[in-house]
Amino acid sequence: MSSHFDVVVIGGGPAGYVAAIRAAQNGLATACIDDGRTRSGEVSLGGTCLNAGCIPSKALLESSELYHRARHEFATHGIGVTTVGLDLDRMQARKAAIVAQLAGGIQGLFRAHGVTGLAGRGTLMPGNTVRFTPHEGEARLLEAGQVVLATGSQPAALACLPFDGERVVDSRAALEFDAVPRRLGVIGAGVIGLELGSVWRRLGAEVTILEALDRFLPMVDAQVAREAERQLRRQGLDIHLGARVQAGERTTDGVRLRYDDRQGSHEIEVDRVVVAVGRRPDTTGLLDPLAGVALDARGCIEVDASCRTSVANVWAIGDVVRGPMLAHKGSEEGVMVADLIAGHAGQVNYDVIPSVVYTTPEIAWVGRSEEELTAAGIACKAGTFNFAASGRARAMEQAAGLVKVIADAATDALLGVHVCGPMAGELIAEAVVAMEFQGTAEDLQRIIHAHPTLAEALREAALSADRCAIHAAHR
Ligand code: FAD
Ligand code: NAD
Repeated sequence: MSSHFDVVVIGGGPAGYVAAIRAAQNGLATACIDDGRTRSGEVSLGGTCLNAGCIPSKALLESSELYHRARHEFATHGIGVTTVGLDLDRMQARKAAIVAQLAGGIQGLFRAHGVTGLAGRGTLMPGNTVRFTPHEGEARLLEAGQVVLATGSQPAALACLPFDGERVVDSRAALEFDAVPRRLGVIGAGVIGLELGSVWRRLGAEVTILEALDRFLPMVDAQVAREAERQLRRQGLDIHLGARVQAGERTTDGVRLRYDDRQGSHEIEVDRVVVAVGRRPDTTGLLDPLAGVALDARGCIEVDASCRTSVANVWAIGDVVRGPMLAHKGSEEGVMVADLIAGHAGQVNYDVIPSVVYTTPEIAWVGRSEEELTAAGIACKAGTFNFAASGRARAMEQAAGLVKVIADAATDALLGVHVCGPMAGELIAEAVVAMEFQGTAEDLQRIIHAHPTLAEALREAALSADRCAIHAAHR
């Protein structure tokens, strides 16, 4: 096998494997190293997203939601179900099969595009050389015209509550539980805490979420976040805001947690606890001390707006660099970098990156919130529309939540769209397109939306920003 490549990518997650495929599409001889491997020793791609993140969590969210609906909502539709059983082994096996199928798909894409996949560890050496250490056998040096670092992130740990892999676990382990815990503690009401808390709540666990901040989902517009919090509490998620965990200790049956909030100090006991307090960039063993790549104060690889590091011809993308830790953000950076390396144009619009929390209802947003804009001194107008007035949401029996559209008061340019409601993660795509094309609230108002669809709520919210929604009374 050749030891010289135009591009060597270290890390085969959604940032790295996408960069590798695009580089190959651009006619560059490309290798991608990842430390994941299949049973037969081949490289296993997809990174955290496919193996322990986006996809397995969405598989369990879907299954647990169906279970919940069958038990609690079918009767409303006039459907009688005498027994609804839970076969967790089967649910987990379905999830594993989806992951395996998609991983095989990426391998197929590598073969189709001629990307060399290498199973093992990669280390950046001085002079654009990569040391590749396979799982078995001797390490060897690869010469690379350009190197792309895409090694992702790892769960952050709490000093007072270290992971033990059994009772105190990270998200990877919480996706693999083989029994529903009776009492589940979750530290952190961020995206992982809410999604995994929802999965195990729907399957029957008593879920207590301890969140250090006073405000629920601070990146989401306050009005929308309030509604999301209300809906999630109604489902039985016991959310404590302003709750800072001080200590945790193993008991015979579980873990005792001590936390402080404004009311004082409290103790709870749970069977298992998921620590979901964020993730940290992973550069373990990646950089030879002489490689010269600079890190920032948070341990991220320092990059410019085009993802160039401090070393010529070395790029870094995805969770290991600044910006939101989202699969689609990393993939877009991968495309940009592979295009720039090939001499094409490439850029990422960091102002228009959508986020989705896949709870029920889903929470999705793009752009800024009304509070952020007000704090920045930008005069804006906002319109909301409740799904309660949407015919489609009513027909679906999922009428909780709202859409909020925020536009510049002077120019009408869309500045943010925040949604809590059914299929919010799909609905937000329209707002992303509109904002990417520098659209206005009036553009959303004038686009014809099929009836009855959930998307009509977006148009009504845009109309409401000018106090002319059809299906809402403006005073
Ligand atoms: P990763 O996916 O972490 O991939 C990096 C790869 O590099 C890994 O395979 C790692 O093993 C490998 N590696 C590391 N160091 C080396 C080395 N030295 N040599 C060789 N290989 C190495 N994001 C979303 O957008 N939507 C979601 O719904 C979503 N859900 C999530 C749910 C959970 C439970 C979690 C934990 C995360 C979720 N995320 C989601 C975040 C998403 O998974 C990450 O943003 C994304 O995976 C980052 O992609 P990446 O390619 O930068 O890194
Ligand atoms: P997060 O940053 O979303 O949330 C962590 C939460 O933990 C924050 O609300 C923080 O205030 C809280 N926290 C921190 N220290 C605490 C403490 N000591 N006690 C109590 N609370 C504390 O991080 P996450 O949920 O761990 O997710 C990690 C990353 O993975 C995120 O960047 C997220 O974007 C990504 N992810 C995305 C999705 C998605 O897009 N649907 C799903 C899962 C994860």
